[in-house]
Amino acid sequence: MSESAEIIVVGGGLFGPAIAYGLARRGCDVALLDDGDDVLRAARGNFGLVWVQSKGMGMQRYQDWSRESAELYPDFAAELKELTGIDVIYRRGGLQLLLGDEEVEAKQAEIDRMKAQAGDRDFACEIIPRDEAQQMVPELRFGNRVTGAGYCRYDGDVNPLKLLRALLAGFQAAGGRYRSAARVETIRHDGAAFVAKTQQGRFTAPKIVLAAGHGITRLAPMVGLYVPIRPQRGQVLVTERAEVRLPIPLATVRQTDEGSVQLGNSEEDVDFDDGTTLDVTRRIAARTISLFPALAALRLVRSWGCIRVLTPDKCAIYDESEEFPGAYVATSHSGVTLAAVNARQVAPWISDRETPPGFDHFSAKRFGRGEDDVQAA
Ligand SMILES: Cc1cc2nc3c(=O)[nH]c(=O)nc-3n(C[C@H](O)[C@H](O)[C@H](O)COP(=O)(O)OP(=O)(O)OC[C@H]3O[C@@H](n4cnc5c(N)ncnc54)[C@H](O)[C@@H]3O)c2cc1C
Repeated sequence: MSESAEIIVVGGGLFGPAIAYGLARRGCDVALLDDGDDVLRAARGNFGLVWVQSKGMGMQRYQDWSRESAELYPDFAAELKELTGIDVIYRRGGLQLLLGDEEVEAKQAEIDRMKAQAGDRDFACEIIPRDEAQQMVPELRFGNRVTGAGYCRYDGDVNPLKLLRALLAGFQAAGGRYRSAARVETIRHDGAAFVAKTQQGRFTAPKIVLAAGHGITRLAPMVGLYVPIRPQRGQVLVTERAEVRLPIPLATVRQTDEGSVQLGNSEEDVDFDDGTTLDVTRRIAARTISLFPALAALRLVRSWGCIRVLTPDKCAIYDESEEFPGAYVATSHSGVTLAAVNARQVAPWISDRETPPGFDHFSAKRFGRGEDDVQAA
């Protein structure tokens, strides 16, 4: 079997569907190719935050990028609902609760550094006192050790599985072709177009976008792209459904629209091991109880480990191949947060070379490239 398209997007996680959705909405003929069910997919195991505070330390463009996406979200979520009927349950508001004076001092130091980096730009994060934070979460008393909270008016959350479903539905409603179980094995350029070989046959297009999370590492060298990414595990716990209502998400405690409470979120360097461990489960549960003692009464019903896709500076990479123009890569942590800019700002870059100011900051050239990397490629 052989299919052709204007643009092939590789990867059905969060980056691929958001960009493919944006491209299809612009009238492009897009084939979105995804691997099978048994592969790494951060898109299906994340925490659902649309988060701006603490993003982009060391790279102001990425701080702005996260905020720009959060600013687009209300309209973006409404557009998805209108087009697909799927409500992604976008909420604005969020807190990072702080335990003890040490955490307040560390957060204040982070805010000061980010403010200095932002200069006269809008860095809307501050520490608010415990009482003010408690008023935002009136139904659930904080533990005694909560001293304050990091607050940013752009933070929020969505139901990430509904977001994924809405992006795929919207993409198909706009004429896109989604092919699951179509793992891209090889990509070559035949002089006129890129040819992606999959289990379902060949797909041919003059443009190809690698948005396949960790799958990018194997594919990027085939089209002359350098994409340094590494895995990091996060473990998440889920409680039974609770009657209490958390009206906004906390950085590590988030109630889903179905009522269960998600607790997070570890950062572990364990290669691609996506298992769970008792020590981390205990640590997450203990911190949650320090934040909200009443949650100790809830039963845990599920836990999982999921692998983040991280660049060396934890900021996004968007790049076009110099050796094979028309081959693009898009990857980052924070694929939930960035879904709106991926659909509305990255898609025009790929379809029409329209880029927002400072977009070149996202090139992987910022990491340089050692001799070992060149040989590995
Ligand atoms: C524990 C945890 C919590 C997180 N919390 C948040 C959060 O609160 N907010 C936030 O914004 N982000 C969060 N993230 C990050 C977010 O989930 C990721 O940034 C996002 O999923 C990355 O999307 P992706 O499409 O690049 O990669 P993935 O979601 O990993 O998807 C990659 C896709 O590519 C496909 N693929 C791979 N190789 C191939 C191939 N050869 N051919 C075809 N398809 C291929 C796979 O099948 C998969 O569908 C979290 C992540 C983790 C692990």
